[in-house]
Amino acid sequence: MKTAFIYTDTYLDYDYGPTHPLRVFRLKLAQELIRAYGLLDLPSVQSISTIKADEDDLALFHSREYLDILKQANDGHLRGDAYTYGLGPGDNPIFTGLYDWSLWITGATLQAVDFVASGKGKVAFNIAGGLHHALRSRASGFCYINDPVIGILKLLSLGKRVAYIDIDAHHGDGVQKAFYQTNRVLTISLHETGYSLFPGTGFEYEIGEGEGEGYSVNLPFPLYTDDESYLWAFEEIVPELIDRFKPDVVVTQLGVDTFFDDPLTNLHLSMDGFEKVLRRMKTLAPKWVALGGGGYNVSNVARAWALAWAVMNGVELNEDLPEAYVKIATEFGIHDKKLRGDRSPFFHSEKKEIQAEVERVVNYIKSIVFPKVEA
Ligand SMILES: [Zn+2]
Repeated sequence: MKTAFIYTDTYLDYDYGPTHPLRVFRLKLAQELIRAYGLLDLPSVQSISTIKADEDDLALFHSREYLDILKQANDGHLRGDAYTYGLGPGDNPIFTGLYDWSLWITGATLQAVDFVASGKGKVAFNIAGGLHHALRSRASGFCYINDPVIGILKLLSLGKRVAYIDIDAHHGDGVQKAFYQTNRVLTISLHETGYSLFPGTGFEYEIGEGEGEGYSVNLPFPLYTDDESYLWAFEEIVPELIDRFKPDVVVTQLGVDTFFDDPLTNLHLSMDGFEKVLRRMKTLAPKWVALGGGGYNVSNVARAWALAWAVMNGVELNEDLPEAYVKIATEFGIHDKKLRGDRSPFFHSEKKEIQAEVERVVNYIKSIVFPKVEA
């Protein structure tokens, strides 16, 4: 069965600015590592160059008024009312080409959707996508356009039943909000608790409204949650929900800011835990649109998404990073030589308390949410 990897070096034309934590070159490094491992040369792999979306695609979700503001900001200049749409110095800076950047990313997500929905293949990966915080008329959390929502809307228009699984350290609030009142999309977000991390939402009692009640699922984790508790909770909740909902397509947001050495967050997962989640996702997704997401330790991003792509293609990778990649990474100041790297070196005296809190949340979802999701 074919798989598609969607990418273009054009992404490198855009830059959030020298002090912003989202480094666009992480996409280049991930692609270089994937290439160096030979994962674009497999007979099953189709390497697809990104094509820009057009404005009508963005308007599937976003307001025309907001799109006009983004177009105005495309020249890199801040205008009076941009602030009211979440734009300006800080999380969502105005940089040259930001509207074009959004068109490229959304285009790649729509290409991934087309690839699996048309039956060309089973899995498609857009590492640039997964910008899950953007709202209908507002930029938020480094996200201007919500490509997961647009991709899901496209799948719905093709008559597909869609489940969305978001493993970014931050709550997938924009996607949840877009589908909060419908049972046509099941959204599941696993993230660090909103008590300690942006955007401050994603509590277990946010379960959807009206017809959508039970179809928004949140698994918030306490600070310092490690692989063991995370994997246990994933296994208790996600397979059962997918089994009940029976999606045609699973869309995943594969943010890799959950690792113990990510500079922005406080979860303590390792590459090993991430890989196990990916292997499980593969068994759950009849068809799979995989999107990127957060990740602010650039070496982790490259290694984790290379590992993810290997899992999607059923290939085992050598633990030693390929020489060709190490050479390029060194130019970016990255000196890792191993694929999986270390597990969290932290010892947690509160491990028992963390597991108890995770069990409380899991039990809540089982008793309150499970019965609402029709089998
Ligand atoms: Zn994130």
